[in-house]
Amino acid sequence: MGNTITDQQITKGLTVFDNIDGKLLTALNSCVHCGLCATSCPVFLATKDEKLTPAHKVDLVASIYKKYCTFSGKLFPGLVSAKAIDDELVEEMVDQLFGACTMCGRCNIHCSIGVDIEYLVRTGRTMLANMDKVPSTLQSTVDSALNTGNNMAIPTEEFVDTLEWLEEDLQDDLEDETAKIPLNEIEKKYLYTLNPREPKFFPLSISAMAKVFHVAKESWTLSTKMYDVTNYAYFSGNPEHAKIIAKRLDDEMEELKAEECVLAECGHGSRSFRWEAPNYLDKKLDYNVLTSVELLAEYLRDGRIKTDPNLIEEVVTLHDPCNLVRGGGVIDEQRYILSKTVKNFVEMTPHGTESFCCGGGGGHLAMSEYNERRMKMGELKAEQIRKTGATIVATPCHNCVDQLIQINHAFKLNVQIKTLAEIVADSIVINSEDKNRIQD
Ligand code: SF4
Ligand code: SF4
Repeated sequence: MGNTITDQQITKGLTVFDNIDGKLLTALNSCVHCGLCATSCPVFLATKDEKLTPAHKVDLVASIYKKYCTFSGKLFPGLVSAKAIDDELVEEMVDQLFGACTMCGRCNIHCSIGVDIEYLVRTGRTMLANMDKVPSTLQSTVDSALNTGNNMAIPTEEFVDTLEWLEEDLQDDLEDETAKIPLNEIEKKYLYTLNPREPKFFPLSISAMAKVFHVAKESWTLSTKMYDVTNYAYFSGNPEHAKIIAKRLDDEMEELKAEECVLAECGHGSRSFRWEAPNYLDKKLDYNVLTSVELLAEYLRDGRIKTDPNLIEEVVTLHDPCNLVRGGGVIDEQRYILSKTVKNFVEMTPHGTESFCCGGGGGHLAMSEYNERRMKMGELKAEQIRKTGATIVATPCHNCVDQLIQINHAFKLNVQIKTLAEIVADSIVINSEDKNRIQD
């Protein structure tokens, strides 16, 4: 059977090499095949498959660049490992770049000469997106966001109903009718976002943050039109789709005249809006964007909320989401929060910028065809958790929460998984003086 990939698709795929920048050029030409990156990669460590090393991914993308963009690759492809795009190569690219990489960036910090491997994987994904070769499972998540405004296609009525009962529960919990979950209010300090997994499966994390906002006497609102912090087009590699999704949040900031944007606990959502949106939108955002992790730490530092670590006596460990920690540099804030909210905190080994991906990154939770690999990566994380002796795993990312719940179940860890907002809400202390202050 001949190739099904058309010349038109190949031409579109190769546009990633138009106007090539120095960063990409360096990454494409620098690998010296030392092999040091292999043992940094959770996919390789979990599978021990020599074909799934980071360097192999670098080679794949570089081989196409050489074939179509270099003199030697055009004339002597065999000599310089240049490869033409055909069905077999596309299949390998999809398997390697979508199915065997969570875009965790751990290999980047271990590459002997600083090749930005993750950036090459993203470039390769964009090439595949341009050729219409994004796995349909991942694309359907992007499509849901594009078509309905949130990646879980939650109807607005259902979203509002959920928030209404959460607000009633919050008022009962705090015995305070002034506790609100404000919707679509204008000129507030913060527009707060959510991962759609929250209203769909984990609504208590919304009430946890609402409780914190209430106690901090914050001026905030949610939007019913655009609350989704995620941007799965960051994973699918389609910058046009990523731009549409990022623009919606940017537009809603303007519509509601909010001063600042607070991103819910979501690693890739934080990265795609706070750090990537200016690239997608080709403009500097004219408002501050911060993660809820940073805001929670700020409230604690400023004494706007008070917590008692003795209220959480269990051993707690922390899973570092790759995009927030390695990708975004938010490292100390979550540790500061835990120092103020739990009695027994134990770090995983390794942690921080050396942390292992849980296996759910890079869109893997959406791509069920790679479940087996994802759960093999999960086994590494399960071992790390087990060694801490923790019974609670905190993590500031709802995608990680989802994967950790599956790891917990599959490897019988018997732990609870919590977001930081939930940990803070569980340890918050409101005395009668505070109650009067809040209600004033
Ligand atoms: S980004 Fe992570 S998963 Fe991908 S190749 Fe590098 S270490 Fe492996
Ligand atoms: S560590 Fe860097 S230079 Fe060495 S094989 Fe990996 S990508 Fe290539």
